[in-house]
This record gives sequence, structure tokens and C-alpha cells, in this order.
Amino acid sequence: MKRSLKYTENGTCPYCNGAGYFQLLLGGSETCDYCGGNGKSHKKK
Ligand SMILES: [Zn+2]
Repeated sequence: MKRSLKYTENGTCPYCNGAGYFQLLLGGSETCDYCGGNGKSHKKK
């Protein structure tokens, strides 16, 4: 099994780099669905 993303040691979300949201090129921002907007990669299944 391979993982495309690494879990950072400090628990920061790898998608948004701990920001909790994505900066959109056209302006504005979108909440990171991976961490739910808190910037931490605590999601576990
Ligand atoms: Zn995130």
C-alpha cells in the first residue's frame, strides 16, 4: 500500500500546509476538506 501524501510529524495538514484553507488563484479561499479547516492532519479512518 502506498501513500501519496506524508503525514507531517507536527500534525500539520499536508494539503493546506496548516493553513486550514486553500488560496484560490481567482481570489478568495476554500476550506480544506482534508482537515476541515483547522490545519491539522488528525483525520483517521
Ligand atoms: Zn488542510
